[in-house]
Amino acid sequence: MSTKSMGLHNRKQPHVRCRRCGKDSYLKRKRYCSHCGYGHTAKIRAYAWQSKKINGERKY
Ligand SMILES: [Zn+2]
Repeated sequence: MSTKSMGLHNRKQPHVRCRRCGKDSYLKRKRYCSHCGYGHTAKIRAYAWQSKKINGERKY
């Protein structure tokens, strides 16, 4: 086996599937989700910049 393809074997994601939002953003080591904030906060993590402007105004 060549070492060429073995370089791809150290790119494993530290995140696992989140229980709350279903994204692969749950950091197992720190036990929180970087997408919805599960483990950090009881509220869903949400920012205005996550949505695009519709009719010149921000919606959620
Ligand atoms: Zn989440």
